[in-house]
Amino acid sequence: MNEQIWALWTGLGLITLALLMGVLSWQYQRRSWNGGRCRRCRHAWVYFETDNSRGFGFKCQCKRVCWVSFRSVMQQPEDFGGQ
Ligand SMILES: [Zn+2]
Repeated sequence: MNEQIWALWTGLGLITLALLMGVLSWQYQRRSWNGGRCRRCRHAWVYFETDNSRGFGFKCQCKRVCWVSFRSVMQQPEDFGGQ
């Protein structure tokens, strides 16, 4: 019985961890994507590759790259706050 409870909590912990990681990477991608523009030079991202693990790859003329794996990130408005 105890083992089952332990397994249940471990499972819940892993799910919580996965959700947290998902939320954090979504926020990170949203900041990088910045509504479709490079945060540094404000030029629009140019698509160059789709990677199975990292998602859609975009690059900028200033050699910065941005990987987006959540499609919803690309529908977010531009974030003007901070650098
Ligand atoms: Zn740039």
